[in-house]
Amino acid sequence: MPEGVHELPDSKFHPPMSMHCAEWRLKNKVREKLGRTVTLGRSANLTKPINGRQACHYCGPCERGCVTKSYFNAAFTTLADALATGNCTLVQNAMVYRVLTDANNRARGVLYIDRQTREPKEVFARAVVVSAQALESARILLNSANERQPSGLANSSGALGHYLMDHLWVAGGAEGDFPDLHGSASLDGPRRPDGIYVIRFRNRHDEPKYPKFLRGYGFQGGASTGFNFGAPGFGLAFKQGLREPVTRLGLAGFGEVLPRYENFVEIDRDVVDAFGIPTLKIHMGWSDNERAMIPDMAESAGEMLEAAGAKNVKPWQVHDRIPGYGIHEMGVARMGKDAKTSVLNQYQQAHDVNNLFVMDAACFTSGGCQNPTLTIMALTVRSTDYLLSEMKKGSL
Ligand SMILES: Cc1cc2nc3c(=O)[nH]c(=O)nc-3n(C[C@H](O)[C@H](O)[C@H](O)COP(=O)(O)OP(=O)(O)OC[C@H]3O[C@@H](n4cnc5c(N)ncnc54)[C@H](O)[C@@H]3O)c2cc1C
Ligand code: SF4
Repeated sequence: MPEGVHELPDSKFHPPMSMHCAEWRLKNKVREKLGRTVTLGRSANLTKPINGRQACHYCGPCERGCVTKSYFNAAFTTLADALATGNCTLVQNAMVYRVLTDANNRARGVLYIDRQTREPKEVFARAVVVSAQALESARILLNSANERQPSGLANSSGALGHYLMDHLWVAGGAEGDFPDLHGSASLDGPRRPDGIYVIRFRNRHDEPKYPKFLRGYGFQGGASTGFNFGAPGFGLAFKQGLREPVTRLGLAGFGEVLPRYENFVEIDRDVVDAFGIPTLKIHMGWSDNERAMIPDMAESAGEMLEAAGAKNVKPWQVHDRIPGYGIHEMGVARMGKDAKTSVLNQYQQAHDVNNLFVMDAACFTSGGCQNPTLTIMALTVRSTDYLLSEMKKGSL
């Protein structure tokens, strides 16, 4: 739903899914008492039919696939559209090893390993778009090093592989109960495939700098009414206690990780994957800035639940989250105007190889604290538009 908040820009949305009454209370009280915005997560689940795909019917386990095609998935949206044009050939089981280049350092195509036969094969193209997820795209470019570019393809800046980011994942938060909003517990009720989101409120653009750290974090979470599995007693007493519904709301922080040169990936020449392709070695750690967010997440989540009148508020913090737990890998082929300090331009086109594009989160110069994929998709649409117009002009 649109909120008009600078830190999470609005868009044109489908109608929002509904919120639990405890979530509404949190939203209203937190806005009123703390000036923070709680909203519904901006997810790619349809709430009205579009292009032959149906509205979500709240069955729950999206990870098992969606018969009504209600969430975005490349296999039944963009890829299906591409195949329907008749101009797209899908080569399956192709594990790309490296980008092929000519003597003028232009991309010619790719070398891939057939996953079934393990045979190396080549395909050729006017332009090459690497879009294999940030780390894998970096691996492909680093493995594409040649005599002219010994440190990796499109790496005259030396930035390729560096400035790796993730999100500081579920490192602090809180949970609390709303006994007056109990409803009834059910195991087969509708399951909303989305949660609530608290928009970043530290270091807002129009406020003085927050003294404890740069940038900030958002919260993901949600409320549900469930059975009281922690009920005391045995036998009949436990069975009766179990049926007493519990309405609990939890908030978990996702913190922004600063882009730092020292967080980087490189090729491990000693270790190859099942296809004989050299793997990545990852070097990443948190800085003091990320560590300072953790107690703040616990404190501010507890404060919001207290403001909403929750009972049994329990803040928590985890200090040993491993980078990578956020599964939001970003950076490693940053975009920028200056070819001396960045790998790609604003259209995700390599500064050094003008018919090579990297369309994923590798281009990110900052990771924000929001989930990355909608931004990845928006950038890809813009870059694809540019690629198409350049091809039509004959520039590529
Ligand atoms: C469990 C989980 C939950 C997540 N939840 C969220 C969320 O709620 N919100 C959010 O914004 N993000 C979420 N993410 C992150 C999100 O999945 C990624 O940001 C997004 O998928 C990245 O898109 P991509 O196109 O760059 O890479 P991918 O979606 O990974 O697509 C890359 C494709 O390239 C193929 N490929 C890889 N290597 C090669 C190769 N060498 N040769 C040929 N093909 C190759 C892969 O098979 C894959 O099909 C989640 C990630 C995980 C793992
Ligand atoms: S909950 Fe997920 S799997 Fe079920 S209909 Fe909605 S989008 Fe599809």
